[in-house]
Amino acid sequence: MTRQIRVGKIKIGGGAPIAIQSMAKTDTRDAAATARQIRGLEKAGCEIVRVAVKDLDAARAIRDIKKKINIPLCADIHFDYRLAISAMENGADKIRINPGNVRKKEDIAKVARMAKRKKIPIRVGVNSGSINAVDGMVKAALDCIKVLEREDFYDIIVSLKASDVVTTVEAYRKFAKRSDCPLHLGVTAAGPASTGLIKSSIGIGALLLDGIGDTIRVSLPGDPREEVAAAKNILQALGLRRFGPEIISCPTCGRCQVDLQRVVKEIEDRIETQRYPPSPRLRRAGKDTRTQVKIAIMGCEVNGPGEAKEADVGIAFGKGAGALFKKGKILYRIKEKDAVKEILKNI
Ligand code: SF4
Repeated sequence: MTRQIRVGKIKIGGGAPIAIQSMAKTDTRDAAATARQIRGLEKAGCEIVRVAVKDLDAARAIRDIKKKINIPLCADIHFDYRLAISAMENGADKIRINPGNVRKKEDIAKVARMAKRKKIPIRVGVNSGSINAVDGMVKAALDCIKVLEREDFYDIIVSLKASDVVTTVEAYRKFAKRSDCPLHLGVTAAGPASTGLIKSSIGIGALLLDGIGDTIRVSLPGDPREEVAAAKNILQALGLRRFGPEIISCPTCGRCQVDLQRVVKEIEDRIETQRYPPSPRLRRAGKDTRTQVKIAIMGCEVNGPGEAKEADVGIAFGKGAGALFKKGKILYRIKEKDAVKEILKNI
């Protein structure tokens, strides 16, 4: 079990639910635009957000951004430790430093001393872009931790990201054997959305299945809310957290005699828009039973009745109509055109 730390109100490690992170893509110095994007991320379900702090103006903007957002903010620091000091003075809830480019021990120690005083955790964020190979990445993280702990500072999170999935997974596995620091998982610079999604899912998924990882960030280009949606899907697919009903549907084939894709899409959209507004607290606590529902939408009688029976609500289609199942029993037959309405009614 990893040690538990706190980032603002969010617990990381020590068995806490795996937290979802993302990163704002705006120029941090534009506090209004950055806060706007972060509020969008909050709505999408992001639990910790990171912003790039590339100069002192960006560090100072954190003060204004923080007034307008509700989730903890992590300041991303490279090259200059003084930016970390300024970010903390301006209200950052967490600091990420890269030991590949913040190298001097005395600089890291200064950051640790202030973080300790202010009770702000630090992520030691190793990137393969700045440090080569698995052993080098693990050593860089352990060396940096030594410097922090020498200052009696223990609120440390670690990441070891490479753009290559195998290197990333190996680095995390090696590190996890040698430290109890909670781990932030991710595959860095994972590429365009199509391949990035696959790289992140495999890398993060493999580690989570090993029981490694306490918080995740899926790196994708474009709208950062896509990162949050992908992170939710990864956690839900692994049964680690639930954010909404699970839809099971077949890929369809020559046996299918209805427009199954339309039915699935409509149900998915309706579930998304009706996404249970009043209960984020219940959802976090895993007590919102509506998110536990399993819905099966199947194209024919080959696998249809089996899957539909197993689900809470299911439909096994035939020609233009299907049998509606609830909790393993057939309720009645419904026409294809009524399928969405009937399924939603029975959830
Ligand atoms: Fe094809 Fe039926 Fe299987 Fe769907 S359930 S993929 S329609 S055989």
